[in-house]
Amino acid sequence: MKDLISIIDVDKHVGETIKIGAWVADKSGKGKLQFLQLRDGTAFFQAVVFKPQLIEKYGEEVGLAKFEEIKHLSQETSVIVTGVVKEDTRSKFGFELDVTDLEVIGTSHDYPITPKEHGVEFLLDHRHLWLRSKKQQAIMMVRNEIIRATYEFFNKEGHIKIDTPILQASSAEDSTELFEIDYFGQPVYLSQTGQLYLEAAAMAYGKVFNFGPVFRAEKSKTRRHLTEFWMIEQEAAFQTHEESLDLQEAYVKYIIKGVLDYCQPSLEVLERDTTLLQKYVDEPFKRVRYDEVISILQEHENDEETVYEHIEAGDDLGAPHEAFISNYFGVPTFVMNYPTEIKAFYMKREPGNPSHVVCADLLAPEGYGEIIGGSEREVDYDVLTQVIKDWNLTEEEYTWYMDLRKFGSVPHSGFGLGLERAITFITGNEHIREAIPFPRMINRVRP
Ligand code: ATP
Ligand code: MG
Ligand code: MG
Ligand code: MG
Repeated sequence: MKDLISIIDVDKHVGETIKIGAWVADKSGKGKLQFLQLRDGTAFFQAVVFKPQLIEKYGEEVGLAKFEEIKHLSQETSVIVTGVVKEDTRSKFGFELDVTDLEVIGTSHDYPITPKEHGVEFLLDHRHLWLRSKKQQAIMMVRNEIIRATYEFFNKEGHIKIDTPILQASSAEDSTELFEIDYFGQPVYLSQTGQLYLEAAAMAYGKVFNFGPVFRAEKSKTRRHLTEFWMIEQEAAFQTHEESLDLQEAYVKYIIKGVLDYCQPSLEVLERDTTLLQKYVDEPFKRVRYDEVISILQEHENDEETVYEHIEAGDDLGAPHEAFISNYFGVPTFVMNYPTEIKAFYMKREPGNPSHVVCADLLAPEGYGEIIGGSEREVDYDVLTQVIKDWNLTEEEYTWYMDLRKFGSVPHSGFGLGLERAITFITGNEHIREAIPFPRMINRVRP
């Protein structure tokens, strides 16, 4: 309704009578005063209802009835409130609404999420309502800012957005994590990544990016795996791996800076340590080879605080190893040049050292672990043909991909950032499930 003012804009209306469309998030008061905590999605705000004022305005009978109605409003009743915006330094918003009228739009009884503590499964069962809470709103604001900053960043960097298909006939990542669906009698798979298609787009348009949902049948319960998540992928022709790392670093700094610049109220609600975030913007990221990381891990495996298991060169890093390394350097850290065997088939073999690939995972600090996987792509037609054979991939499904190596192949590289991983890290949250509006995990597809 066009005469309603958003709570976020009330500071522009000091002294004016305005109308707000909102929900009653909480209520308190005694005697002649009632305080309503209003929520309209843009912010939270306090409205003050003063009984004598209503009586003065509407007369004894109507004024009293209005006050009684307000006194009995229950949590999440939707209302249109009319009142005068007043500056008030005692209120944490700096402003208050001095209520002159209130109209109930939709009633609400026995709202299940009360101010008391609830278990996380209960909250997830009520995710459609849980989203209304202050903390969840703060996380969604950060999510929105990261998405906004992503488009801005890649546009500034001269990229165009290319949407890659969700329904795919073959896999690019771990085939044990594919969701298979019936496509008119033939099996096809939900996208685990748009990468192979993005490579085609890079050969067509140079610098491209992609933002879309991806699906992985993650069978174990962890704090950082969803079965449906959103990935931001970048690919560019003639982009060396070094240049890719520079771009990744600039991009991650850009989204953190966006959140620092535009999401201060959310970061406050989340109690996020903003000096740390600022440090990640200001200081260069660390770059270290996988082999060196293994040595560091082995060196510290008997330290008193060490919680990870012994690791050998050739093993993939587990979450506790990643956590250790990201804490070790105190800034986001690129772990580069993993062994060929534990990485995806399309990564370029290191020149003169084919047991390793030209790749990097970006580990977020504070124990958050991998947020980006990236690499230079293998462009040698013969090497790639052999790899596809060795990996037992269905060759016919990759003929189109091999065409990219046949018709004007050029060196190229790219990366994928898990949006929810980035949100979890930037918000300082513990679990990835709160970083997406409706999380899907091994034991949850509802609501
Ligand atoms: P992990 O080692 O944590 O399982 P991955 O190496 O399998 O991740 P990639 O294939 O490199 O992941 O995908 C690129 C990015 O997508 C990852 O760096 C991560 O940020 C994100 N990602 C991967 N799997 C998931 C998941 N199940 N849920 C949320 N984000 C994910
Ligand atoms: Mg994985
Ligand atoms: Mg990984
Ligand atoms: Mg990875």
